[in-house]
Amino acid sequence: MIQLYIPLNFLGVIYREIKQSLTDLNRMFTLMDKEREVADDPDAQPLQIGNPPPEVRFENVQFAYDPSRPILHDVSFTIPAGRTVAVVGPSGSGKSTLARLLFRFYDVQGGHVRIAGQDIRNVTQSSVRHAVGIVPQDTVLFNDTVEYNIAYGQPGASREQVEAAAKAARIHDFIVATPQGYETRVGERGLKLSGGEKQRVAIARTLLKNPPILIFDEATSALDSANERAIQNELRSAAQGKTSLVIAHRLSTVVEAHEILVMDAGRIIERGRHEDLLAAGGRYASMWNMQLNQPESEALAD
Ligand code: ATP
Repeated sequence: MIQLYIPLNFLGVIYREIKQSLTDLNRMFTLMDKEREVADDPDAQPLQIGNPPPEVRFENVQFAYDPSRPILHDVSFTIPAGRTVAVVGPSGSGKSTLARLLFRFYDVQGGHVRIAGQDIRNVTQSSVRHAVGIVPQDTVLFNDTVEYNIAYGQPGASREQVEAAAKAARIHDFIVATPQGYETRVGERGLKLSGGEKQRVAIARTLLKNPPILIFDEATSALDSANERAIQNELRSAAQGKTSLVIAHRLSTVVEAHEILVMDAGRIIERGRHEDLLAAGGRYASMWNMQLNQPESEALAD
């Protein structure tokens, strides 16, 4: 029996390895597909950001993933240097698409996305990605050490710099309590982290990268209130002095934003500061009232 068990067990290990490799390959091809979405002009120059942080501007942006289905219709807004604009709206209204365009995952089909006055289609993609940091809702961690996952934001960073970023993102104490500390392997084949812990690794990665423009995609998943408040504080301190676009699900984020954009079906249907939108008694006001009645919910987005 044992003779049969060992080869079967071995086959199981091989099967899992192959399956994992295929998952990794799939992910790689998805990323490569994304890379192919935009191409630099042969004479494209790097983005010039004189005095950071820069202004970000969307001008009459039109965009479709598939030409038969327009997604964004004539979207215009400005994030003044160092300010935060929050975007709210129902699922599928185009919020994350704004973030992808600002990171230049895709090029717009009409209008312009400008950073410091330069159309990001005319500058190198790598310089745009260098200037923009994203804290996504669901961070994918590499099957590598915690240190590697944080330092990915800034290749060549020293252990001291990684630890400083982890402390600022309040994940350091958690890391040093794991069996191998910063050498602990995480990801699908290593230590599994909770949604909140993964987001803190992403915040540490972004703090280390220290880009002048930040994009936050706030988690909709139910974090407990204490954890949520802590992450909010971390995001707020990370955004100090940076130009930020926040896909917002939390009241505290929108209340403080320089401007709130309410999206619906790819259009900005309301915009303004929190008090003005409340006073207007439109869609934002009803989303706000709904969330007030569900204090632990994520009703602002949905
Ligand atoms: P959520 O709050 O659920 O994240 P969202 O407001 O961020 O939604 P987007 O992710 O921007 O919405 O999606 C806007 C529309 O674009 C949706 O109808 C979605 O199905 C479509 N879409 C998003 N990504 C792609 C893609 N890669 N290819 C084709 N269509 C897409």
